[in-house]
Amino acid sequence: MFSFIVTIFLCTMKLTPPHDALTVNPDPMSSTLLRLGLWIILLVVVLYVLHETYPASAMAEYFALPTLQKGLALGILLVAGGLVARLFGKGASKVVGPKNRCVICKTAIPPGAIYCRAHLRSMLNREDERTHTTRTRS
Ligand SMILES: [Zn+2]
Repeated sequence: MFSFIVTIFLCTMKLTPPHDALTVNPDPMSSTLLRLGLWIILLVVVLYVLHETYPASAMAEYFALPTLQKGLALGILLVAGGLVARLFGKGASKVVGPKNRCVICKTAIPPGAIYCRAHLRSMLNREDERTHTTRTRS
Protein backbone atom coordinates (compact mmCIF):
# COMPACT_ATOMS: atom_id res chain seq x y z
CA MET A 1 0.00 0.00 0.00
CA PHE A 2 2.73 2.47 0.98
CA SER A 3 4.87 1.75 -2.09
CA PHE A 4 1.75 2.24 -4.20
CA ILE A 5 1.25 5.72 -2.75
CA VAL A 6 4.94 6.58 -3.20
CA THR A 7 4.74 5.47 -6.84
CA ILE A 8 1.71 7.69 -7.45
CA PHE A 9 3.43 10.56 -5.70
CA LEU A 10 6.56 10.20 -7.85
CA CYS A 11 4.42 9.95 -10.98
CA THR A 12 2.59 13.16 -10.17
CA MET A 13 5.92 14.85 -9.44
CA LYS A 14 7.09 13.76 -12.88
CA LEU A 15 3.92 15.06 -14.52
CA THR A 16 4.48 18.54 -13.07
CA PRO A 17 8.23 19.23 -13.31
CA PRO A 18 9.55 22.12 -11.17
CA HIS A 19 10.28 24.36 -14.15
CA ASP A 20 6.65 24.05 -15.17
CA ALA A 21 5.51 25.43 -11.82
CA LEU A 22 7.97 28.31 -12.04
CA THR A 23 6.94 29.53 -15.49
CA VAL A 24 3.86 31.70 -15.92
CA ASN A 25 1.14 29.33 -16.97
CA PRO A 26 -1.26 30.62 -19.64
CA ASP A 27 -3.93 28.21 -18.40
CA PRO A 28 -4.46 28.90 -14.67
CA MET A 29 -7.44 26.53 -14.32
CA SER A 30 -5.49 23.36 -15.10
CA SER A 31 -2.45 24.37 -13.05
CA THR A 32 -4.69 25.16 -10.07
CA LEU A 33 -6.31 21.74 -10.35
CA LEU A 34 -2.91 20.05 -10.68
CA ARG A 35 -1.46 21.92 -7.71
CA LEU A 36 -4.52 21.27 -5.54
CA GLY A 37 -4.50 17.58 -6.44
CA LEU A 38 -0.77 17.31 -5.68
CA TRP A 39 -1.22 19.01 -2.32
CA ILE A 40 -4.08 16.68 -1.39
CA ILE A 41 -2.00 13.64 -2.39
CA LEU A 42 0.95 14.99 -0.42
CA LEU A 43 -1.29 15.57 2.61
CA VAL A 44 -2.70 12.05 2.34
CA VAL A 45 0.83 10.61 2.16
CA VAL A 46 1.87 12.60 5.25
CA LEU A 47 -1.27 11.52 7.15
CA TYR A 48 -0.69 7.92 6.09
CA VAL A 49 2.88 8.06 7.39
CA LEU A 50 1.60 9.54 10.68
CA HIS A 51 -1.09 6.87 10.78
CA GLU A 52 1.53 4.14 10.36
CA THR A 53 4.00 5.73 12.78
CA TYR A 54 1.54 6.30 15.62
CA PRO A 55 -1.11 3.60 15.23
CA ALA A 56 -2.22 3.90 18.86
CA SER A 57 -2.82 7.64 18.88
CA ALA A 58 -6.23 9.25 18.65
CA MET A 59 -5.15 10.93 15.43
CA ALA A 60 -4.62 7.57 13.76
CA GLU A 61 -8.21 6.70 14.47
CA TYR A 62 -9.38 10.05 13.23
CA PHE A 63 -7.52 9.66 9.93
CA ALA A 64 -8.86 6.21 9.24
CA LEU A 65 -7.67 4.41 6.12
CA PRO A 66 -11.00 4.74 4.24
CA THR A 67 -10.80 8.52 4.75
CA LEU A 68 -7.22 8.58 3.47
CA GLN A 69 -8.19 6.48 0.45
CA LYS A 70 -11.04 8.88 -0.31
CA GLY A 71 -8.63 11.79 -0.02
CA LEU A 72 -6.14 10.05 -2.29
CA ALA A 73 -8.86 9.34 -4.84
CA LEU A 74 -9.91 12.99 -4.73
CA GLY A 75 -6.29 14.11 -5.22
CA ILE A 76 -5.80 11.78 -8.18
CA LEU A 77 -9.12 12.93 -9.64
CA LEU A 78 -8.04 16.57 -9.37
CA VAL A 79 -4.66 15.83 -10.96
CA ALA A 80 -6.35 13.91 -13.77
CA GLY A 81 -8.82 16.75 -14.25
CA GLY A 82 -5.97 19.24 -14.35
CA LEU A 83 -4.12 17.16 -16.95
CA VAL A 84 -7.25 16.86 -19.10
CA ALA A 85 -7.85 20.61 -18.79
CA ARG A 86 -4.24 21.25 -19.77
CA LEU A 87 -4.52 18.95 -22.81
CA PHE A 88 -7.76 20.67 -23.84
CA GLY A 89 -6.12 24.06 -23.39
CA LYS A 90 -3.20 23.02 -25.58
CA GLY A 91 -5.55 21.60 -28.22
CA ALA A 92 -7.61 24.79 -28.27
CA SER A 93 -4.54 26.99 -28.66
CA LYS A 94 -3.34 24.69 -31.47
CA VAL A 95 -6.63 25.10 -33.34
CA VAL A 96 -6.57 28.89 -33.01
CA GLY A 97 -2.84 29.02 -33.74
CA PRO A 98 -0.44 31.88 -33.10
CA LYS A 99 -1.81 35.28 -34.08
CA ASN A 100 -0.55 36.50 -37.44
CA ARG A 101 1.36 39.74 -37.07
CA CYS A 102 2.86 42.37 -39.37
CA VAL A 103 6.59 41.62 -39.73
CA ILE A 104 7.41 45.32 -39.25
CA CYS A 105 5.08 46.81 -36.63
CA LYS A 106 3.73 43.55 -35.07
CA THR A 107 0.08 44.58 -35.19
CA ALA A 108 -2.44 41.76 -35.57
CA ILE A 109 -3.37 41.04 -39.19
CA PRO A 110 -5.58 38.43 -40.92
CA PRO A 111 -4.02 34.96 -41.48
CA GLY A 112 -1.98 34.60 -44.65
CA ALA A 113 -0.95 38.26 -44.79
CA ILE A 114 2.64 39.40 -44.18
CA TYR A 115 2.16 43.14 -43.54
CA CYS A 116 -0.51 45.30 -41.99
CA ARG A 117 -2.52 47.57 -44.28
CA ALA A 118 -0.19 50.57 -43.88
CA HIS A 119 3.01 48.59 -44.37
CA LEU A 120 1.57 46.61 -47.28
CA ARG A 121 0.84 49.93 -48.99
CA SER A 122 4.33 51.28 -48.32
CA MET A 123 5.85 48.02 -49.58
CA LEU A 124 3.82 48.22 -52.79
CA ASN A 125 4.84 51.85 -53.23
CA ARG A 126 8.49 50.94 -52.79
CA GLU A 127 8.11 48.11 -55.31
CA ASP A 128 6.43 50.57 -57.67
CA GLU A 129 9.28 53.04 -57.32
CA ARG A 130 11.88 50.33 -57.88
CA THR A 131 10.26 49.05 -61.08
CA HIS A 132 9.75 52.63 -62.20
CA THR A 133 13.45 53.54 -61.73
CA THR A 134 14.65 50.33 -63.42
CA ARG A 135 12.37 51.08 -66.32
CA THR A 136 13.72 54.61 -66.73
CA ARG A 137 17.30 53.36 -66.51
CA SER A 138 16.90 50.76 -69.24
ZN1 LIG B 1 2.84 47.03 -40.04
